[in-house]
Amino acid sequence: MSASMTKTSQSFVEQASELLGPRGFTQDSDLVAPWLTDWRGRYTGKALGLASPADTREVAQLLTLCAEHGKPIVPQGGNSGMSGGATPDEAGNSIILSLRRMNAIKHIDAQAKQVTCEAGVVLQTLHDEAARHRLRFPLTLGGKGSATIGGLISTNAGGTQVLRHGTMRAQVLGLEAVMADGQVLDTLTPLKKDNRGFDLKQLLIGSEGTLGIVTAATLRLLPEIGGRCVIWAGLESLSQARQLLLHCEDRAAEELEGFEVIPSHCLEAVLDHLPDARNPLAGHHAWHALIELVAEAGQVGALQPLAEDMLSSAMEQGLLEDAVIAANETQAEAFWLIRDSISPAERAIGPAMQHDISVPVATMAQFVEHASPLIEERFPGTRAVAFGHLGDGNVHFHLLAPPQAVRGEWEEDQGKEISAFVHDLVTQWDGSISAEHGIGQMKRDELGRLGDPVSLSVMRSIKDALDPRGLLNPGKLVPLAKGDLNA
Ligand SMILES: Cc1cc2nc3c(=O)[nH]c(=O)nc-3n(C[C@H](O)[C@H](O)[C@H](O)COP(=O)(O)OP(=O)(O)OC[C@H]3O[C@@H](n4cnc5c(N)ncnc54)[C@H](O)[C@@H]3O)c2cc1C
Repeated sequence: MSASMTKTSQSFVEQASELLGPRGFTQDSDLVAPWLTDWRGRYTGKALGLASPADTREVAQLLTLCAEHGKPIVPQGGNSGMSGGATPDEAGNSIILSLRRMNAIKHIDAQAKQVTCEAGVVLQTLHDEAARHRLRFPLTLGGKGSATIGGLISTNAGGTQVLRHGTMRAQVLGLEAVMADGQVLDTLTPLKKDNRGFDLKQLLIGSEGTLGIVTAATLRLLPEIGGRCVIWAGLESLSQARQLLLHCEDRAAEELEGFEVIPSHCLEAVLDHLPDARNPLAGHHAWHALIELVAEAGQVGALQPLAEDMLSSAMEQGLLEDAVIAANETQAEAFWLIRDSISPAERAIGPAMQHDISVPVATMAQFVEHASPLIEERFPGTRAVAFGHLGDGNVHFHLLAPPQAVRGEWEEDQGKEISAFVHDLVTQWDGSISAEHGIGQMKRDELGRLGDPVSLSVMRSIKDALDPRGLLNPGKLVPLAKGDLNA
């Protein structure tokens, strides 16, 4: 770092400290270090400091200061993202902008079924608060104890209820964001009809902190559910799971809230990882489906007979091998805990290359059945495992390393080639290399390699227009143009 850079950084640090106070800005390495590595432990960076503003005004002032000093900003919520999007690079010149202090739920309008909250509200907190008003927020995922509303919006997160309610994009009614130059974009008030030009909130959703900092949002809520039926089914194949899904959609279109698939390998990994977990079914099944039906208050009585009828007709048609309906809420939670524990259980086993992919819903089972043996043959000793949101045409397609592989080394040696192989296949099947986890730093080059040239060119133009100096989350999401070595 040159002497003049050091001076600029020093001046920036003094002004940021003055602006945000001791709770709002720190360079203390003990406080900064936990936020320098991503959840999966694949990326570690360096930062000039950690900024934790208390409100939107402070975010705006900080961004103005960063613009003046040319300081890159890496926004961060719960740091539960899967693509290294919230991790700074190794230059040590960036500011991590944590939204975690901005965690107020400002207003719940029970009549309009809307909530306005700050970006740092943790998803589980929002669920709890909505429940106190006999409402619910219809998006959930395994990282709900740490994922924040700002992070969920910025990655357009999905989860296990997309089948019925859509991704985060469908939940956001209004948005507040601070732009690169410090201006505050306020579209918090939801309007059912509004044709005043571009829908800027939709542009910001899924932009992974590269176009603006989300500071608050108005989100839609639904009436609380009166009850649910959670089913665990044993299956012989993923194709059978697809047939079962169609059957469930046919029999319980209004009530079907989630349909997740879990191969036996993942179930066994979770049972090893969680000492108190139990296999819901007695026998062995190659695949499992976790199915949730829900009903509003007043219609709960019809749920159990509906589930029983749906399962017995499925059994008659040879669409499943065995099934059990959770006897109570504790058992229902235990079924879901198995699903939500797949990622940590798998992480405990050893290295894996993870791919969050989608193909058209109708071809997902065929894709997995076609791609798994191909990739295992191409990379001997590996094991392909797919699990997740079959109902959305989205599975997490992981390639587990051979047993003797060393964590870190194996990914370094083989990771790029493996991912390119998977992504090429997905592209051939008209799919997406990022279904719900975003691009981050992990898939930026792959998006550049495989993305539609026109889409990429439009994305770069938008980025240049809104963040001409490239200070917002540099090195993430937006692929470099050919010959551009600066970003
Ligand atoms: C066990 C587990 C299970 C998961 N399951 C799912 C799943 O089923 N579906 C799914 O979609 N995801 C899942 N995730 C991933 C993760 O929870 C989501 O990506 C979530 O949206 C990240 O939220 P976060 O607050 O942790 O964001 P972070 O990880 O902090 O950030 C994610 C990205 O958003 C940007 N960002 C964060 N906050 C802001 C802001 N306020 N303004 C602008 N940019 C911002 C960051 O710079 C980064 O690019 C899972 C994670 C875990 C740990």
